[in-house]
Amino acid sequence: MTNRVALIAGNWKMNLDHQQAIALVQKLAWSLKDAGHDYSTAEVVVFPPFTDIRSVQNLIDADKFELGLGAQDLSKFDNGAYTGEVSGAFLSKLAVDYVLVGHSERRTYHNEDDVTIQAKTAAAFRHGLVPVICVGETLEELESQGAAAVPIRQTIAALAGHEALGDFVIAYEPVWAIGTGKVATPEEAASVCGKIRAAIAEEHGAEIADKTRILYGGSVKAANVAGFLRSPEVDGVLVGGASLDADEFSGIARFQKHLAL
Ligand code: PEP
Repeated sequence: MTNRVALIAGNWKMNLDHQQAIALVQKLAWSLKDAGHDYSTAEVVVFPPFTDIRSVQNLIDADKFELGLGAQDLSKFDNGAYTGEVSGAFLSKLAVDYVLVGHSERRTYHNEDDVTIQAKTAAAFRHGLVPVICVGETLEELESQGAAAVPIRQTIAALAGHEALGDFVIAYEPVWAIGTGKVATPEEAASVCGKIRAAIAEEHGAEIADKTRILYGGSVKAANVAGFLRSPEVDGVLVGGASLDADEFSGIARFQKHLAL
């Protein structure tokens, strides 16, 4: 590990209503407390659906939980006649810290391209949110271009053309590993994360590259997380399915106890 604080992020996708969200967050926070989790070494952030965010924010606030709060998407616009969209300004008002940008499900089902993702990254910066920019190759791209080409191109595109870069996180998620049970090997994940960091350094300088957290995502579980986080190139994980189970996600957040094994 480096001096970058690990980030353990749970993307709930379109699961759990606001009452179920409250139950899960309570269970997660208590599980981490019972285990004496040290949030200064591994930040733990949940990304509920929009309709749950207010309830989760109230709970975190009232019970002084140390969990962070994220949203799964934001509009590239700030306000106006954009039915169904959610502004970064509204998220920021709800004390949301992070926002996923360009998740592969948004790229695939909502046709989000590099231009849209760059604009959403800009919107996140404007509203003081930390974008977690998701990048990754499909199986066809892996076979035709290798593992790193697409994630590097997507990273550079999302970060291009901003007046100033705010803090951001990159999540390397091979599309073929999301929700499939197929996992990249720790060596593959570390190699691509390292190449993404080198590309950021080349484009934006070593200082920005050094402080940026680069996560791995794709079928991460408590049983395999330590393998990824052993590498200094991987600064955390973005977890989908396994984040819906408080005990499993708490086990992932406590990856450090497996590192010594
Ligand atoms: C994700 O949705 O970002 C993800 C990595 O999903 P899963 O962990 O279920 O593969």
